[in-house]
Amino acid sequence: MTPQILDGKQTAATIRAELAAQVAGLTTRPPHLVAVLVGDSPASQLYVNAKAKACVEVGFRGTVHTEPADITEGTLLGLINRLNADPGVDGMIVQLPLPKHIDEKRVVQAIDPRKDVDGFHPVNLGRMVLGLPALLPATPAGVVELLRRNGVATAGKHAVVVGRSHIVGSPLSILLGRNSPEGNCTVTLCHSKTVDLSRHTREADILIAAAGQVGLIGPEHVRPGTVVVDVGTHRVADASKKSGYRVVGDVQFDAVAPIVAAITPVPGGVGPMTIASLLSNTWQAYRAARD
Ligand code: NDP
Repeated sequence: MTPQILDGKQTAATIRAELAAQVAGLTTRPPHLVAVLVGDSPASQLYVNAKAKACVEVGFRGTVHTEPADITEGTLLGLINRLNADPGVDGMIVQLPLPKHIDEKRVVQAIDPRKDVDGFHPVNLGRMVLGLPALLPATPAGVVELLRRNGVATAGKHAVVVGRSHIVGSPLSILLGRNSPEGNCTVTLCHSKTVDLSRHTREADILIAAAGQVGLIGPEHVRPGTVVVDVGTHRVADASKKSGYRVVGDVQFDAVAPIVAAITPVPGGVGPMTIASLLSNTWQAYRAARD
């Protein structure tokens, strides 16, 4: 069977075009997203540059603050406070992971929740749980938007989420289970202590793989009709590529795709949707500051 490919690249391009049209109609300054990058990890640089490029594409201003890996926590918190107070900044992200000597939780909690466009702040997570307006965590919001825009109904479906991190699996399980048009699933949340993972995943109508384990989900984990969303992103060595690596997910795409109803590719699935969510959140923060 040929599955429906849930094309995150295409869906994200549509969202960017919608945002660009909104920006084109502005009579005030455009939205401004600031990314703070600590250290020189090539992967983090790549992610931050992709976010800054996406800003420019939609007509936002995108600024990257690059700080040395040995920056003190106090200096970083000082920068965040200045960005919080700056009326010319609408959204802010601090690229994770941070160096070991910096307390990530303290940094995330220092961001003004109104500018927290990654949606990691406890205030935004709490508002999400309560069903109040919030800046939703970017990757989970991107996943539900990808499903919605590609005609995957969620109401009454059984969603199985593999992975319970605070930035992906747990908030996604809440979004899918909420009483909202993009939710209303019955949700099972699996993690590393789950016994007999395939017993749970084979029950899924919608299976979300967010365990951060290369190729964890194989044909034995799915059944015909399942919609599979692969959040996992891994670089594996590949001498045939100019870069020396290729990007794969948590799902064994070639073995799983022929069985299921729909599946996201990696790359080109959830990754672009995460960036689209960041832009949408920045637009939301910009509008909220003006309404
Ligand atoms: P974490 O490492 O923080 O969390 C992984 C979760 O998976 C944990 O809850 C862990 O369980 C669970 N897990 C690990 N191994 C297994 C297993 N064998 N069976 C069942 N559950 C397991 O990862 P993140 O949530 O931060 O990221 C997950 C993946 O998504 C990564 O590959 C990451 O790179 C990618 N990612 C992609 C994004 C995108 O935009 N495409 C954005 C963010 C992340 P336990 O809690 O028990 O330890």
